Amino acid sequence: MRKIQMVDLGSQYQKIQKEIDNAVIDVIHSTQFINGPEVKNFQNALEEYLGVRNVIPCANGTDALQVAMMGLGLKPGDEVITTSFTFVATVEVIALLGLTPVLVDVFPDTFNIDPDALKRAITIKTKAIAPVHLFGQCSDMEAIMQIANDHNLFVIEDTAQAIGSDFIFKDGSRKKAGTIGQVGATSFFPSKNLGCYGDGGAIFTNDDKLAETLRIVVNHGMQVRYYHDSIGVNSRLDSVQAAILKVKLRYLDDYATARRKAADFYDNAFANNPHLITPARSNFSTHVFHQYTLVTKGINRNKLQEFLMSKEIPAMIYYPVPMHMQKAYIDPRYKEGDFPVTEMLSNSVISLPMHTELDEEQLNYITKNVLEFVNQ
Ligand SMILES: *Cc1c(COP(=O)(O)O)cnc(C)c1O
Repeated sequence: MRKIQMVDLGSQYQKIQKEIDNAVIDVIHSTQFINGPEVKNFQNALEEYLGVRNVIPCANGTDALQVAMMGLGLKPGDEVITTSFTFVATVEVIALLGLTPVLVDVFPDTFNIDPDALKRAITIKTKAIAPVHLFGQCSDMEAIMQIANDHNLFVIEDTAQAIGSDFIFKDGSRKKAGTIGQVGATSFFPSKNLGCYGDGGAIFTNDDKLAETLRIVVNHGMQVRYYHDSIGVNSRLDSVQAAILKVKLRYLDDYATARRKAADFYDNAFANNPHLITPARSNFSTHVFHQYTLVTKGINRNKLQEFLMSKEIPAMIYYPVPMHMQKAYIDPRYKEGDFPVTEMLSNSVISLPMHTELDEEQLNYITKNVLEFVNQ
């Protein structure tokens, strides 16, 4: 049996090695490492795939979120609502810009933001909502956009974990994750569903005027060379990464299919087990399974992780500490117990290996060992 990894980038690379190698070597021969034609080519390909008017490539997903908030003109003191159960980046950039993060709880079955809790968190200072499409499926964007429209708020979609997933509206129409709010932000970190071989990110928007502003922000606040009309940042996707991403974008839907197949295998193996709750699939979103995350019940989650490690099965806790309990974000407004669902999840979730290259032998071995521990 091949070694089991949380993410198997090596086996994935081997299948497309020639294409990737050629793309990289072409960039090296061109010596156009920054802002070369490959960046524009990838940008165009991603715009077409997502059905969005503008993609602005940048250096990483955290920058994508920061640039989005800068481009929207959010000012210190403005409140941005996001979730207490997420990767730190979303909250980090809000705090870095001097904005006020306002946290709300999530649903226990999808791990995504609860629109009713969101509505209750709105104050006179609220300017934006930053839903995170966690683990590979969309938050309830129809409900969120309705709330945003009613209260005149921007929506910044953190789609770092859900690129390629479809939001399905009540009328049956679909839009890609990250293209529904004013702006979407994603990451091309190697382990993400569309990952490059280093750092990368992008911002999406259908608003041409906002796109122009975002392009200025990522380029030192500069439109005309060496004239700086606003404070910006330096955030670029390099040409080598863009060339790799252009190859991998062609496989993104196949990758999602492979991930869903592994998720189906897990779901079947764990169905009706009293100690394991399998991840819910929303009827308003397709699931691209960035992670396969179980909620455990009545077992010692950390001991399960240790047991799996002893069988050479990696498993991770995403995320062990809720945002309001992180040292850096301690805030007198919040205390333990304020976000009971998030806190329950942090204490009970476990994510199993999930990637495009899991085979049946590996899946059998993983599920057999999980069941051996929980049923003992
Ligand atoms: C990975 C991730 C980010 C940050 O992306 P980087 O490219 O690592 O900066 C932001 N938000 C979420 C939800 C993520 O998973």
